[in-house]
Amino acid sequence: MKQCILQVVLDTPLDSSFDYRWQTTNDDELIPHIGQLVRLSFGRREVVGLIVGVTSHSNISEAKLKDVQGVRYQLPPLSTQWLNLCGFAAQYYQRPLGEVALPGLPKNLRALTTVALDRGLKKLRQMNDPHDASPVDVPQLNPAQQDAADAIASATGFAPTLLYGVTGSGKTEVYLQAAEKILAHNDGEHNPAQILILVPEINLTPQLEGNIRARFPNVMVATLHSGLAEGERMRHWLAAHLGQARIILGTRLAVLASLPHLQLIVIDEEHDPSYKQQEGLRYSARDLAVWRARQLNIPIVLGSATPSLETWHHAQSGRYRKLELRQRAVTNAVLPTVRLVNMEHDKPREGLTSTLISALKLRLARGEQSLLFLNRRGYAPVIACDACGWVSNCTRCTAFMVLHKPEHRLRCHHCSLELRIPGSCPTCGNVDLQPLGRGTQRLEEGLQAMFPEARVLRIDADSTRRKGSAQLAFDSVHRGEVDILIGTQMVAKGHDFKNLTLVGILNPDTALFSHDYRASERLFAQLMQVAGRAGRAAQKEGGSVSEVLIQTRYPQHPLYSAVIAHDYDHFASALLAERQQAHLPPYIYQALLRAEAKELETAIAFLQQAATCLEHGGITMNDPIPMTMTRVANVDRAQLLIECPSRPGLQAFLTDWMAVLRTIKTRAKWSLEVDPVDI
Ligand code: ADP
Ligand code: ZN
Ligand code: ZN
Repeated sequence: MKQCILQVVLDTPLDSSFDYRWQTTNDDELIPHIGQLVRLSFGRREVVGLIVGVTSHSNISEAKLKDVQGVRYQLPPLSTQWLNLCGFAAQYYQRPLGEVALPGLPKNLRALTTVALDRGLKKLRQMNDPHDASPVDVPQLNPAQQDAADAIASATGFAPTLLYGVTGSGKTEVYLQAAEKILAHNDGEHNPAQILILVPEINLTPQLEGNIRARFPNVMVATLHSGLAEGERMRHWLAAHLGQARIILGTRLAVLASLPHLQLIVIDEEHDPSYKQQEGLRYSARDLAVWRARQLNIPIVLGSATPSLETWHHAQSGRYRKLELRQRAVTNAVLPTVRLVNMEHDKPREGLTSTLISALKLRLARGEQSLLFLNRRGYAPVIACDACGWVSNCTRCTAFMVLHKPEHRLRCHHCSLELRIPGSCPTCGNVDLQPLGRGTQRLEEGLQAMFPEARVLRIDADSTRRKGSAQLAFDSVHRGEVDILIGTQMVAKGHDFKNLTLVGILNPDTALFSHDYRASERLFAQLMQVAGRAGRAAQKEGGSVSEVLIQTRYPQHPLYSAVIAHDYDHFASALLAERQQAHLPPYIYQALLRAEAKELETAIAFLQQAATCLEHGGITMNDPIPMTMTRVANVDRAQLLIECPSRPGLQAFLTDWMAVLRTIKTRAKWSLEVDPVDI
């Protein structure tokens, strides 16, 4: 009879591991190993847990110890390195280990039956089949690209690098050629290498996936993102875990994948807010990736035309090496000219100034594409009654119901509430309700009336609800079936539109005066990214010079001057100086305690208690305040911001604080976020 005690973590909010007994009379059965999954009963449920310790002794009495029900031997154990990564994330973000480690695993792996796993493993063999490998054109790198690719491929040890390259400078090509070198050096069974490439939103960058598959026909490529069906997800995860997939392309969640032979991490568009998980475990995939690279002592590349200020700060201080690509890669493709159109002088019609209308006409006449960027979906953000002042407030949130005309609905973008558009004012009966403001649907309607012959396509979250529809829409733009593309931030990212020579930016001013201190950093990045969609191919004979027109009421604003000059350097340095003066990140470390309840007082009362429950020398406790959007779906929300000039200081306090917070009796639901971005 063999026997031992397994220390197991489970996906529960309880911050501890649990002891279970394992025993067998079968002499051939192996003793379970750390990193293996086990089936067991917990309370009245049957669940899958993860072994984090194997010992011979437990403090729980023999009579109370429960036996595990089965060990998942088919799956090779998760490595200590992977457990350490989860352990770090758990500690840093103040969550129980089980809540970090288990939800990151494919659902099928956590399912109680093993059928899915045996299925998964079988199908994996099919992924191995070399696919049809028609040769592809590999561009000759320009000298700046070549230097960057060489520097990345030859880096050893923990070498964080910022690849700072203007839009269209060919950063992707640099990643791919560096990856090629690393894979070539580390070939064969004894020294295989895996490369993790993170992108903000995989569904919006299928070009990259296609590119990678074509370029690496002999290498297994796995993709990891939330759009995969469970079976697929399991297969790709296993391919990574077993070390068979050599290139792993994924969104933020892929940072927690098991990658036993990881040799290089690439984070494309590292500034993108999508790298921050905004619910549950609110982690930054970028920060975890950097930690992971340090743990494994491997290089990491962070690429962007508009790096986050955190990354820029590290590059300035020399902690990260900075590699620069100053020019567009395609011969004779140049950055577009950016011009401001003063809306006070050139009054817009249907949201469009006469300057922008003329520019659109010119593109239509020349058969070139235009992009109009308006970061507000729906028809109008609110409808109102002139007679009595009624406005379409959401009854459950501190927000307006947005008019969605094609869908004949009023929709709240914050809770799921949907109503039919009222035929008359609910208060006074006036039948003449007015839409106020303009969203993408209204812009589309106006453009179609103005240019009946033009092919107008709108791409936003509403037009692309069906799975795969975004892809179809982008394909038709690439095929040249669209003259004017209207879009929200969905169209700003990464796309390599070849025939686009005009970008119109419709309503960026609101972000200039936001209370959020990150708003100008984000707006700048967004404008540079969307501007970067223009002029990506060489100017055609008789074709237009590529240009970006920004409609604004504040043409004097320094942010716009920086955009015109394509001058990220100075703008970023100025923002950093401001942040330093104002004691804001990255010069200070923050955590945010959120609380929500049916009544605001309950949430505030909890936060007040939290603010005083523990001695906090060295920590700045701000006052608990209601969130800007206080009510969402009939729940009131409040927050307490705490700050500290030292990261370890903040960490130490948070650990002690969490222990005390867990003992507070309250009806409020609360959660802690470390390094919050929306405050
Ligand atoms: P970025 O990611 O920096 O915005 P991309 O990687 O999308 O830029 O590259 C922009 C365009 O330049 C793509 O069409 C790409 O195929 C092309 N390109 C990249 N490198 C080269 C090169 N060395 N020579 C010619 N074209 C290139
Ligand atoms: Zn009314
Ligand atoms: Zn609502």
